[in-house]
Amino acid sequence: MNEQAAEFARAYERETGRSPRRDEPMNRHASFRIGGPADLYIETASPSELKAAVGLARAAGVRHRVIGGGFNLLFDDDGYRGLIIRNSARGLAFRTASETIEAASAAAVDDLTGKAAALGWGGLEFLAGIPGTLGGAIYGNAGAFGRAMCDVLAEARLLTPEGGEIRVGPESLEFAYRHSRLKKSADILLSASLRLAPAPPDRIRAAMDENVALRSRRHPPRATAYPGSFFKNPILPDGCKQAAGFLLEQTGVRGLRVGGASVFQGHCNFIINDAGATARDVLGLAAEMKRRVLEKYGIVLEEEVIFVPASA
Ligand SMILES: Cc1cc2nc3c(=O)[nH]c(=O)nc-3n(C[C@H](O)[C@H](O)[C@H](O)COP(=O)(O)OP(=O)(O)OC[C@H]3O[C@@H](n4cnc5c(N)ncnc54)[C@H](O)[C@@H]3O)c2cc1C
Repeated sequence: MNEQAAEFARAYERETGRSPRRDEPMNRHASFRIGGPADLYIETASPSELKAAVGLARAAGVRHRVIGGGFNLLFDDDGYRGLIIRNSARGLAFRTASETIEAASAAAVDDLTGKAAALGWGGLEFLAGIPGTLGGAIYGNAGAFGRAMCDVLAEARLLTPEGGEIRVGPESLEFAYRHSRLKKSADILLSASLRLAPAPPDRIRAAMDENVALRSRRHPPRATAYPGSFFKNPILPDGCKQAAGFLLEQTGVRGLRVGGASVFQGHCNFIINDAGATARDVLGLAAEMKRRVLEKYGIVLEEEVIFVPASA
């Protein structure tokens, strides 16, 4: 642990009376179940705790990353030199007058969709079955079935790199396919409000069930260790999206294996950890998949899953 990390640990203990965990295995915090130890690890239970922890990390100059559910991450085999902040700030409220739901950034997406459906608020059906937190969903503009977070976000409350709080609309987040400005800025999402539309609960529930059923036909079984689609669907020069899974399938990668990682038999855009895979296995397999698609189609596939290197 370097001096900045030690300085953070002292300040955090002073401010909260709690000690960060040391050498926390990151495979416990990612659906891929891959990743070595992070020097320091804490969990924050409210937006104000999250804000305070990020403030202390910035003041100490320690390298840090805020994570949500870890459903889109590949941690390094060497872990993480610095501080991982697991955001557990939950809580949500429905605002009937403005037809919005306001939620803390670690609100679970399935909690949002489930509660909205039960109260007769539609608009979030496309999110049914996408695991993770609101923060992770906005960061990567998560979506399915032609809709994404950019279509429902009303307002985001951000912690800026300077430590201030700002409220911004969707246009300022520069949303694109699986992209938001949060990917290149150091802003942290504290909370957000999403636009809803009243609808009968049984109709919302039926649409959600249909989406979940469609997903379960494509995806590996529930207990599988994987982070969803590995590559983005490439956008061709004519503006149309091409399914990465189809391109990969045509190159014969189905079932291809490197060490403990393999291409899922049922869908070629899923890399699964089915035999104690390392990040090195996954990166090796992904490189071979990309090489084949480039060779056959001249298309460079871009990763949707985010690799978190051990050091900067
Ligand atoms: C079975 C399965 C199915 C999936 N299906 C889909 C799908 O259909 N569509 C889709 O888009 N994705 C899908 N995914 C991927 C994943 O569910 C989404 O990317 C999800 O939004 C990740 O949320 P998370 O909270 O787990 O984020 P994490 O994986 O923890 O983090 C993702 C990124 O967000 C950043 N981040 C998290 N919280 C904040 C915050 N508060 N402020 C700033 N940055 C933050 C992290 O630093 C990290 O870079 C799937 C994954 C799995 C395992």
